[in-house]
Amino acid sequence: MKKGLLIVFSGPSGVGKGTIIKRLMEQKELRLCYSVSMTTRQKREGEKEGVNYFFVSEDEFKQAVYNGELLEHAVFVDHFYGTPKKYVEEKRSEGYNVLLEIETVGAKQVMNQMKYDDGCISIFLVPPSIEELEKRIRHRASENEEVVQKRLRKAIQELKETFRYQHVVCNDNVDSATKRISAIIKEAMLSQDDKA
Ligand code: 5GP
Repeated sequence: MKKGLLIVFSGPSGVGKGTIIKRLMEQKELRLCYSVSMTTRQKREGEKEGVNYFFVSEDEFKQAVYNGELLEHAVFVDHFYGTPKKYVEEKRSEGYNVLLEIETVGAKQVMNQMKYDDGCISIFLVPPSIEELEKRIRHRASENEEVVQKRLRKAIQELKETFRYQHVVCNDNVDSATKRISAIIKEAMLSQDDKA
């Protein structure tokens, strides 16, 4: 069976990755599986264990790193985040396209490891402007001012990393950004088919 794609999807906090992922997951023809990450950050209201994240203690996280269970990991605004390797490998070998929604440091690790795996594609979602991004981070308002400021500074840093990605898509409008990303994935699926 043809191996599924590994899709690295990044973008600053508040840019709207979650909404776009939800729309993409509804498109069954994309055969997407969402890779649920492990994190040491606190659960936000409405988030569910095993759906949004696996919420773990720092000790549990460090143990997973030590055991080699993570494909990549990084620190983001004082907390650890990482991608469990087993799920990604299993789903890809079943022919599913696995979506990793990860920040830029972890993305770089994955891209380095997958240099010779042409089933790996990378997409970076950018906001129409920094002002718009700040508005969106504040609108979410699930964090205090200090965290908002840290996430904004981090966003500006992350925007400097866009050059590492094969595709940069602007989220000026959710419908058109989703359509563009869907087209990118379909094209990559076609070229995987050609190789099979
Ligand atoms: P949030 O706390 O807003 O859910 O996520 C913060 C950042 O961590 C986002 O940019 C998100 O894409 C990233 N992130 C989520 N899971 C992972 C992961 O497994 N690895 C890495 N490197 N980043 C992650």
